[in-house]
Amino acid sequence: MFFSVKEMELRKIRFDETFEPHRIDFAGEDLEQSSPLHAVGIGQLIEDSDGEMRIQGQYTVEMSSQCDRCLGRARFPLDARFDLFYKPMSAIARDEEIEIDEGEAEMGFYEGNGIELEDILREQVLLALPMQRVCRSDCKGICPSCGRNRNETNCDCKVETIDDRWGALRNLELS
Ligand SMILES: [Zn+2]
Ligand SMILES: [Zn+2]
Repeated sequence: MFFSVKEMELRKIRFDETFEPHRIDFAGEDLEQSSPLHAVGIGQLIEDSDGEMRIQGQYTVEMSSQCDRCLGRARFPLDARFDLFYKPMSAIARDEEIEIDEGEAEMGFYEGNGIELEDILREQVLLALPMQRVCRSDCKGICPSCGRNRNETNCDCKVETIDDRWGALRNLELS
């Protein structure tokens, strides 16, 4: 779905779209879209702004990836709102004084005649995901010694502690 500046000069654009997996390209992010992404909202031009647009909306989706600790599946149900402002790229060339300060963190730029909803949603989803992708906050991960998933089996491997290593070092020095 495309937010065309020309169209928004005439009217606001309301959207209510459902994107099945693979319609938005998350390739290269080690991510899978595991439910349809549903997005609703409105796009409009800001009056007397020289092409600045505002896109507000809300989306729900479930994303999944490999757990960073146990290599199992980590699921991320997202339900988020966004309120974004985009200026035309040409505004940068025209006014080199544009400063993007902290208060304008949500300010983006668009090229040409407008912006794709898919591109906006892709960016929003990536921003919403946690830095560390784990299947659950207390995931015990994989045993470095026997390779078992510690969430499923409690292995009897002795975990080498810092103290043990210091002890080994001390013994080495004495011999
Ligand atoms: Zn895990
Ligand atoms: Zn083990």
